[in-house]
Amino acid sequence: MVARSCASVPSTRMTMNTQWQQSTFVPAHLDATKFDGIEPLLVDLMNRPVPSARELEQWLIDRSELTAACSEARANLYITTTCNTEDKEAAQAYSAFVEHVEPRLKPLNFELDKRFVQLVLQHPLPAERYMVLERATHAEVELYRDENVPIETQLALLTQKFEQVAGSLSVFFDGQERTLPQMARYQELPDRAVRESAWRAVADRRLKEASAFNDIYDQMTSLRQQVARNAGFTDYVGYTFKAKHRFDYTPRHCFEFHAGVEHEVVPLVRSLDRRRAAQLGLGGDMKSGMQALRPWDLSVDPKGRGPLHPFSNGAELMRKSVATMRSLDQRLAEMLASMGDGSEARGAMQGACLDLDSRKGKAPGGYQYMRDRSRQPFIFMNAAGLHKDVETMVHEAGHAFHSMLSRQEPLVEYRHSPIEFAEVASMSMELLSMKHWAASGAFYQPGSEDFQRACREQIKRSVMLLPWIATIDAFQHWVYSNPGHTRQEREAMWVVLDQRFGNAISWEGLEDVRANLWQRQLHLFSVPFYYIEYGIAQLGALQLWLISLEQGEKTAIDYYMKALSLGGGKPLPELFSAAGLRFDFGPETIARLCERVQQELEKLPE
Ligand SMILES: [Zn+2]
Repeated sequence: MVARSCASVPSTRMTMNTQWQQSTFVPAHLDATKFDGIEPLLVDLMNRPVPSARELEQWLIDRSELTAACSEARANLYITTTCNTEDKEAAQAYSAFVEHVEPRLKPLNFELDKRFVQLVLQHPLPAERYMVLERATHAEVELYRDENVPIETQLALLTQKFEQVAGSLSVFFDGQERTLPQMARYQELPDRAVRESAWRAVADRRLKEASAFNDIYDQMTSLRQQVARNAGFTDYVGYTFKAKHRFDYTPRHCFEFHAGVEHEVVPLVRSLDRRRAAQLGLGGDMKSGMQALRPWDLSVDPKGRGPLHPFSNGAELMRKSVATMRSLDQRLAEMLASMGDGSEARGAMQGACLDLDSRKGKAPGGYQYMRDRSRQPFIFMNAAGLHKDVETMVHEAGHAFHSMLSRQEPLVEYRHSPIEFAEVASMSMELLSMKHWAASGAFYQPGSEDFQRACREQIKRSVMLLPWIATIDAFQHWVYSNPGHTRQEREAMWVVLDQRFGNAISWEGLEDVRANLWQRQLHLFSVPFYYIEYGIAQLGALQLWLISLEQGEKTAIDYYMKALSLGGGKPLPELFSAAGLRFDFGPETIARLCERVQQELEKLPE
């Protein structure tokens, strides 16, 4: 995952600051966590005379510096709370910013957007440089409606309600009360009966909430419909494409992605399911007399092996990750090593850029957060010595490379790229670094069973997520194109989509669980239509991996660095093409990638 957005910089890295141009508009010691300090600068931007195109460009840079200062204030508050969730003061400071500062910034920023649109009419700017910024600002201004502000607040409250209920679910299992995330590890146990009862415990608990979640979703979809109508759209699909700045693709392209996944990826995934069934001693065919593969058979290692343990702590993870990068490309190794040694364990204090080890009181998950003013990335994760932590590390390192390679760009808007490309930077680093996990000083012995198993899992995962992405995306297109549908129709549509894209498993006797599976995807509730981005990016990452296999690693890394250094200043097709990739997610591209994935998988023993 990528998070937007720092802290003071340690003296050893101060020299890097001189690489980029800094505006003097925002005082160096501005406390951007307080509205009072920000307000006079916003007022200046609102009222300052801007008599020429040159001064408009300076206005944009000054505005960008202020945006970066506010964004970094938020980043530091967020990082601090996630590194120590028990720090009440930090939690309060973060909520105070989100509840009291951001809502006051929003309308003022909208006024500045409107002013920019007017100013650029008076003083046209070179399209080559400003087209991306202009079209995004135009979209914001055109979509804004006063009457949608209270609806957005209602939607935010519904999201909070959903997250509270979903986050509070627990079951009594194996002698004690456990949260649903804690139940996931039972799915990896070799004892099938334990897996089944754990799976059923979670499914039953969720089913008890199905009706409450349906209520929330019904309210959300109808409010979203209202937002779209207020903004002059017939449905929420058109509105959301514009609101998400999807200028370079349309719903038709998404439908082509669905078709490509259905015809190329689903057969591959189902053949892997059948192989898994055979390895587990089950019949993959649901109609045969043999026991079929069931939903609780998908996470266990089919050979009954325990998890891989390629490192012991954050410092070792960092050392081995740098060794991996050194073997891949010296420039990447230097960038990663400049972030620290991995032993940091105090959040972003004193300019630290890493907090890797899992410890009590840390929030779950992992992220990379660019601190926009000091232009230093931060990597947060919960490393526990497992292979999945290696994947998280190289993924977040990919985001950090992106942040560092584009940090000389003066406009903060262009130092971030759209998610569709930002995730190419991270997902492709998972695949490109793979070969080097067995480099000298890195994670595995060359040619070892562990190394082959890790690579095989990585390649499999890079395609296995695609059918789920297609399911979620197709479901949302249906939901928002068919306002007024009933719950029964919605469930029926979900089952149709699961039949189209789902695993080769038997749902016999679990029909009600299956019909409500969509409720597990929190994006449907809290960030509608946000998901296809990962599919588009994964296809880009696979293409870049193919370039490394076919044209050599150096070519792929040169493309990678060139495209990442563009940040977000170009439209998506240009970012993809700078990376040597086609901005295409239809059946032909998917077929080509899938064929190669299959070939590479065959080379690796299970
Ligand atoms: Zn990511």
